[in-house]
Amino acid sequence: VTHLFWMRNDLRIHDNYALNAACRNADARVLVLFIATPAQWKAHAMSPRQAAFIFSSLQDVQRSLAEKGIPLHSVECDDFTASIDVLKSFCQQHQVRRMFYNYQYEVNERDRDAAAERELSDIDVVSQGFDDSLLLPPGSVLTGNRDMYKVFTPFSRTFVKRLHAGLPECVSAPAARAGAPLRDMPVLTPFNYPFESVDENLFPSGEAAALARLRHFCQRTVTDYTENRDIPAVDGTSRLSVYLATGVLSPRQCLHRLLTEHPQALDGGREFVWLNELIWREFYRHLLVAYPSLCRYQPFIAWTRGVRWQNNPAHFTAWQQGKTGYPIVDAAMCQLNKLGWMHNRLRMIVASFLVKDLLIDWREGERYFMSQLVDGDLASNNGGWQWAASTGTDAAPYFRIFNPTTQGERFDRQGEFIRTWLPALKEVPDEWIHQPHSWAEKNHVTLDYPAPIVDHKEARRQTLDAYEAARK
Ligand code: FAD
Repeated sequence: VTHLFWMRNDLRIHDNYALNAACRNADARVLVLFIATPAQWKAHAMSPRQAAFIFSSLQDVQRSLAEKGIPLHSVECDDFTASIDVLKSFCQQHQVRRMFYNYQYEVNERDRDAAAERELSDIDVVSQGFDDSLLLPPGSVLTGNRDMYKVFTPFSRTFVKRLHAGLPECVSAPAARAGAPLRDMPVLTPFNYPFESVDENLFPSGEAAALARLRHFCQRTVTDYTENRDIPAVDGTSRLSVYLATGVLSPRQCLHRLLTEHPQALDGGREFVWLNELIWREFYRHLLVAYPSLCRYQPFIAWTRGVRWQNNPAHFTAWQQGKTGYPIVDAAMCQLNKLGWMHNRLRMIVASFLVKDLLIDWREGERYFMSQLVDGDLASNNGGWQWAASTGTDAAPYFRIFNPTTQGERFDRQGEFIRTWLPALKEVPDEWIHQPHSWAEKNHVTLDYPAPIVDHKEARRQTLDAYEAARK
């Protein structure tokens, strides 16, 4: 009997529910198929860095599977619709009887999977899906009235109770099968998609690298996470988002590693703060399932649909290129453009700046982020943008508007982060780093750095007016 594991956003062999299930019958022949869909990825604005990262992760996972005697095939077609035909003919060609896959929760992905299950059942292939990319499945953390929580804190509290009642277990990597290791591996051809290289020092590809980073983080960095996580100049966060977004790492592996190093993390230990971030990740995914319109460019708070955005292309370009004249915003955008990753505090600052200083539609920012981020993930990205734009559930209230200068002063006091990314400001003294033009004027220095494109006070006023007009 032949089993197929359809690999998608779960590029690992350890703790992979569907792969583990596909291998449970020791006598089955197990095949793995990955289907690249460049036109679909383009429509979803997937970044060339993420495409490159997925490709190198795929090469890594192919080698690991080959060690176990399992071949991984990769086939390319246009989009999700075409991928169903690819899947079907692969099953026919290899006489597959059972197909195993891990759920994805975005609407296009869910529609594709429903169609795939139907088509496969027509040719007598039994499909089985698994909730693998989350600690707890969507719909399992509900209010007393069995509704999805709209506010994070009570969601998190109930979530922790559920974890106390029973931790989701990690499953093992497949055992070596007959014929292992494989001598010949199917050819992997790079996707027909723009590739952009990823900094291998920051984001080395492969499961082993991800697990090593997780271990290092939980042994050392996590203890000071509370103090350091808001300081972009410090390497104080896990930088695991890319592995979680592509499924090179599972959240269960994160949870168990954390509890192995810090058993008290679930009982009020200081390391809980990090686990709580993983719970934010869960919150946004659970929301996507409860409110699929979030995948369709819809705000959570309906009245915010009426905000009249000022879509000024010159402002949008200045923001994208890190030329707004606000040093913390510009340094952050340079980090994004160069690395494909941005520190969480900075994501909040630049998102707030785009929406509430430039009054540009948050969906423009959301899409630009996706096109750059190596860790781009619809649920977390949408959640983050809707939070910043005050259009989301449990979002910042619309009248709370970050002042980009004071945010810089609070979180990059001496300008260490700013100077790393904006060499033009190297000579500006610490006390002026957040307002370099004032210093330059006083000292008759010419800076190779743009003047602020908007006046924050004025912009704030306009934004409040625009939101208030929409709310009426
Ligand atoms: P850590 O601080 O080490 O956190 C551990 C893990 O928890 C992260 O890897 C991530 O998986 C999860 N996490 C942390 N913070 C959040 C959060 N606020 N919401 C959801 N999950 C979180 N995260 C993405 O993975 N992909 C995105 O596309 C994305 N876009 C964002 C857009 C905006 C506007 C904002 C404000 C946040 C966004 N985030 C996104 C969330 C967060 O900024 C990143 O997950 C985090 O910066 C990744 O760095 P880290 O792995 O070092 O995080």
